[in-house]
Amino acid sequence: MKDDNFTSVIALGGLGEVGKNMYVIAHKEEIWIIDAGVLFPESDLLGVDYVIQDVTYLKQNQDKIKGLLITHGHEDHIGGIPFLLQNVEIPVIYGAKTSIGLIKKKLEDRSVPYNYDNLVEIDGNSKIDSKYFHIEFYNTTHSIPDSYGIVLHTPNGVIVQTGDFKFDLTPIGPMADIQKMAAAGQNGVKLLLSESTNALVPGFSTSESCVDETLSDIINGYTGRVIIATFASNIYRVKHIVETCKKMNRKIMIFGRSMESATQLALENGLIDDKSIFIEANEAKSLKKNEICILCTGSQGEPLAALSRIANGTHKQIQLQPDDLVVFSSNPIPGNAESVNRVVNKLYLKGVRVITNSEFNDVHTSGHGKQEELKLMLRLIKPEYLMPIHGEYRMQKMHKELGVSCGVDPNKIFIMKNGEQLIMDNEGCHMGSPVQAGDIYVDGSRIGEVGSIVIKDRKLMSRDGILITILNINPYTRKLLIKPNITTRGFVLVNESQELINKIERKTTEVVNNYLANNQYSYTDLKNQIILELHPFITNLTGRRPIVLPVIMEVKEASNNN
Ligand SMILES: [Zn+2]
Ligand SMILES: [Zn+2]
Repeated sequence: MKDDNFTSVIALGGLGEVGKNMYVIAHKEEIWIIDAGVLFPESDLLGVDYVIQDVTYLKQNQDKIKGLLITHGHEDHIGGIPFLLQNVEIPVIYGAKTSIGLIKKKLEDRSVPYNYDNLVEIDGNSKIDSKYFHIEFYNTTHSIPDSYGIVLHTPNGVIVQTGDFKFDLTPIGPMADIQKMAAAGQNGVKLLLSESTNALVPGFSTSESCVDETLSDIINGYTGRVIIATFASNIYRVKHIVETCKKMNRKIMIFGRSMESATQLALENGLIDDKSIFIEANEAKSLKKNEICILCTGSQGEPLAALSRIANGTHKQIQLQPDDLVVFSSNPIPGNAESVNRVVNKLYLKGVRVITNSEFNDVHTSGHGKQEELKLMLRLIKPEYLMPIHGEYRMQKMHKELGVSCGVDPNKIFIMKNGEQLIMDNEGCHMGSPVQAGDIYVDGSRIGEVGSIVIKDRKLMSRDGILITILNINPYTRKLLIKPNITTRGFVLVNESQELINKIERKTTEVVNNYLANNQYSYTDLKNQIILELHPFITNLTGRRPIVLPVIMEVKEASNNN
């Protein structure tokens, strides 16, 4: 039976985008899944909180699923787990200690039931064996502790999935296991799935140690309060800030829910050992300014995060003082630049000093390797085939060029889309038939109920507002009882546009009377007729296209009296 002796690789998310990573490796009756992340939508998906994967393929192959392997604890890799578990049965989830901690918290927050015995901790020495697979992990450097790459031995050769990585020769946490990567390359790797986030950025990323030096210098020399905003998940950065403050005799106030839980987790794990450095806001009153550091969330300009509230002057416990120094130990994620600028401007308006990451101030470094690091990975792993993952199309494309420059045959590099299937067999790798994949919108806690029509409505409403016509109709006599009442929101100011409103009112009366005179009364038909005729009428008058919402009140009593 040569026919079904192939291994297939499918991304259900993560290709053509940075987010909602999910890669499926299948052989005969076995499926292994790598990561289940979310994507944070751009602002054009109004009101949508997350985008997750369409997991129809997994549902259809439910009985083959052996387990879920987690590379690390970032949202774009674990954020989709609560939703996945509600749709698909996952027998075991393997992840490093930090990842498992974050997953547990996620499941608790969303009250998703899962047997915690099936959350299995792995490290660089772990090995998993199934009928067709032998799976190992190696430590990588990334902006969250406990990040791993995965080596999967399959009947058709070795697949390496890098997870998110950079190379840092002087990291703050443990050193990446470069030897293990080189050994895998030495033994022969058929296919490399490598992340592409910074494929467009030339050079080699700054070491976390340089960032720490800069931060130390800034904190050391400053006489006022220092306020630092960074990613709560970057525990090593947080750890370093804590240690620096300790040396410089500053106490730390923590603001922001994710920062609180991250430091809590770090204390529990022993990554941060001294609890006494953290103080409450009221304890700070007795301290001098140069004895205070505020560590908070909001480095992305998120409107509700601690830093935004501090900048707005709406934070309950912290009022800005003119000699405060605010440090953004972060870079804006694409899409957030505008909101970060807004916060920076507000801070300047309040007269405080602001330091953001720049070529003069290394107060942040990316967790993703730049071009030279992606090349180093290619040189270490020496794959025969390359599939750039974790990136938008242009990043995947550039990653292909990097692959070619490192000696990979251009015909053996696959730029794929979500749902496309790569087949590995004894002849090598080639494209197979695609499976179902796509975007599912999560709005609050509702999964998949917001379709594209809802989004379209929200866009229309946000652009042109909404117009409501309230009609009192007697369905028996087929008469409009009083003239239509017109209300608008976000369309025009009713007071200032009385003439326009009157015109719409008269038009509505005309449409309704016309309909009632010539048709059998039907609630739905009448509504549609109103929408159909009012849309062009309003667009003609105003050039705008508000959502028209007819509300029909059927007043039946009147007919009994007549
Ligand atoms: Zn990551
Ligand atoms: Zn990622």
